[in-house]
Amino acid sequence: MDNNLEKIQVQLQKDIDLPYDELKTKYISTNGLLTLAMKAIASIPNDQKAAYGKGINQLKNSVTELLDQKKNQSLIYSPNNRIDPTAPFDVNTPKNDRPQVWDIKGTKHPLHKEVEKLVEIFQRMGFDVMESKQMDDDYHMFESLNFPVGHPARDMYDTFWTEDGFVLPAHTSTMQNRALKQSNPPIRVVLPGRVFRHEATDASHGHTFYQMEGIYVDKGISLANMKATIKTFLEAYLETDLEVRIQPSFFPFTEPDCEFVISCPFCNKTGCSTCGHSGWIELMGCGMIHPNVLTQGGIDPEIYSGFAWGFGVDRLTMIKLAINDIRYLRDSNLNFLRQF
Ligand SMILES: [Zn+2]
Repeated sequence: MDNNLEKIQVQLQKDIDLPYDELKTKYISTNGLLTLAMKAIASIPNDQKAAYGKGINQLKNSVTELLDQKKNQSLIYSPNNRIDPTAPFDVNTPKNDRPQVWDIKGTKHPLHKEVEKLVEIFQRMGFDVMESKQMDDDYHMFESLNFPVGHPARDMYDTFWTEDGFVLPAHTSTMQNRALKQSNPPIRVVLPGRVFRHEATDASHGHTFYQMEGIYVDKGISLANMKATIKTFLEAYLETDLEVRIQPSFFPFTEPDCEFVISCPFCNKTGCSTCGHSGWIELMGCGMIHPNVLTQGGIDPEIYSGFAWGFGVDRLTMIKLAINDIRYLRDSNLNFLRQF
């Protein structure tokens, strides 16, 4: 290496503890050591230019590397902002304060991708979209849905309450009343959102998951319309023909109350682990909206009728992506999530 370049390289080792700004001025400002050395190439004899150029590149790499390290450290250790770069990634950290080691490219979570696909299918079918609230009140969680105070069915939805009487919604049905009041029939709305249950978790139960509610209200709507609408949607989403059936269930806010069952898309009803070897999968609750719920929403049940459904997005995602444990979806295990 050229003598001059060697001197600068040695100097750089001595300057290793200088702060970022001082280093920048000393090496890469207009009169910086590296800048001047680069300009000097014009005066180097032709037969030495190639070697000099190589030396300059090495020096430049050393300077850049040191400056990058310093920049990162100044973010991590600046007095107001002591962030340990090995600490777990914290989404609340302002973007400019994040250490570079956190600077990873983000992607959408598989659940969000599925929610978007689901919403898109319903939009093509003419449905509007309203996102549900992550905290709600007793009226929307229970009363507007035909669970008066003291109704025993309230126990079916053991969820979390705040000290001042708000509730983390146990279902997206909390939005039905708002959707009914928002416009006059015909009303076609899907209501995706996050819901919460006070529940022990296992492979098929989570305390937090996504649901997607839907309602369709107009004159002369019947169970046959419900069956056809949900079947059309599921066939579009699962990209296969399905046999469907409805069987009795119980919800205070529908009458009659049904469970929507589909033929297993994986085994063609011969039985597999996804369908519990029954050939059928119980997929969601649904039914005709109870007249009391319509009345609470300002809709005259003498004139209009409608149906509603609610399914777990996590569960549907598990079926679609062949995931066998609901907890994987919330474990933040990047190796798992990156598969999708
Ligand atoms: Zn099956």
